[in-house]
Amino acid sequence: MTRFCNWPFEFAWIRGGGRVSICCRMKNGGYTDGNLNEIGFEDAINTDTAQAMRRSILDGTYGYCSPDCPKLFGEHNMSENTKYQQILENRSLTVTEIRHIVLGYDRSCSLACPSCRKEVFTPVGEELVRLKKYHDMVLEKIPAPEEMNVSGSGDAIGSVTARMFLRNFGSYPKFGNTRLMLATNATLLTPKAWASIEASHHNIAVISVSIDGAREETYRKIRTGDFQRLKENMSFLCSQRRHYTTTSKIVNSFTKIRDQREQATTNRAVARIGWRPCRPFRLEVNFIVQKGNYTEMGEMVDLCRHWQVDRLHFIPIRFWSSGAYTKEEMAEQQVFGSTHRLLGNFLEYLKDPRLDDAIVDLQGRLAALKRQCQATG
Ligand code: SF4
Repeated sequence: MTRFCNWPFEFAWIRGGGRVSICCRMKNGGYTDGNLNEIGFEDAINTDTAQAMRRSILDGTYGYCSPDCPKLFGEHNMSENTKYQQILENRSLTVTEIRHIVLGYDRSCSLACPSCRKEVFTPVGEELVRLKKYHDMVLEKIPAPEEMNVSGSGDAIGSVTARMFLRNFGSYPKFGNTRLMLATNATLLTPKAWASIEASHHNIAVISVSIDGAREETYRKIRTGDFQRLKENMSFLCSQRRHYTTTSKIVNSFTKIRDQREQATTNRAVARIGWRPCRPFRLEVNFIVQKGNYTEMGEMVDLCRHWQVDRLHFIPIRFWSSGAYTKEEMAEQQVFGSTHRLLGNFLEYLKDPRLDDAIVDLQGRLAALKRQCQATG
């Protein structure tokens, strides 16, 4: 099987200052050296630098990639998809469309997890005005992708620009068919906040919640948030997901009615009672595995089962220059590291049968270690 990573061919991250990246996990941040403040989107994703990065994927050297990128472990997402086969055959270094765009320039978040940031970031005054202006410029310049992460560097509800976009989604008809992904810590995603972004509900395909602890004291320490409020909001999201799944089944069965006249009558009736054909969103959870929480991975599976989560991603913690940890402190957090004194203990927890649950996605080195545990019994 040919190893192939699709990210630099299908993804784009829009960062602050007009910078564009084609893979956030590359050693150089995946920056293309193209600036959206000066050139168009298509030029910004096809610069010489961008082409060099794509060439490194096609020639198999992966020279720009961070060695700890989860996609370099095993065959995770290295697909034999025909589209990717075509890219491999044509060896095309430029792309004409991007499938997934990440709006990653608003760092606003109500929490300050040490792996990610040193303090809570909330722009105000001049900074907020500049951010909103920049956000408008980006939305105007980018084409409508199939999928868009509206909160790539902050919280979907804590971020002013993401919240504005979601609330006024009807004002952006070009994104009408775009599936939206919301990354959030969910502590602000109350029933009221959910109602306030009603305009975008139909397009929300994934809500991805970061929860790095299954117990209150751990959550408070690692994510600095209110665990009780998080649990209430997760139960609410779970109920909304159920509601959307049920209504979409009913509405979709109505709207599959045979002839067009009947269809039009049905659509009018459905609109009158306030139902729209809707897509149930996927509810996902991210758990950044580290020294302070690895003993709770099994409990997290139980909680996610309780909330009817579709997918639970266990992601090995990694160094972010924006975070509060030094490189040495990060090495101490990485209990899955080959020389970490707690590795043996970590492997015992990795044997927990709850981690074999179908919703569990162990990423990168965690998957490799799990395979090792299975092989050695
Ligand atoms: S292998 Fe990882 S670092 Fe390399 S392009 Fe893919 S996602 Fe980016």
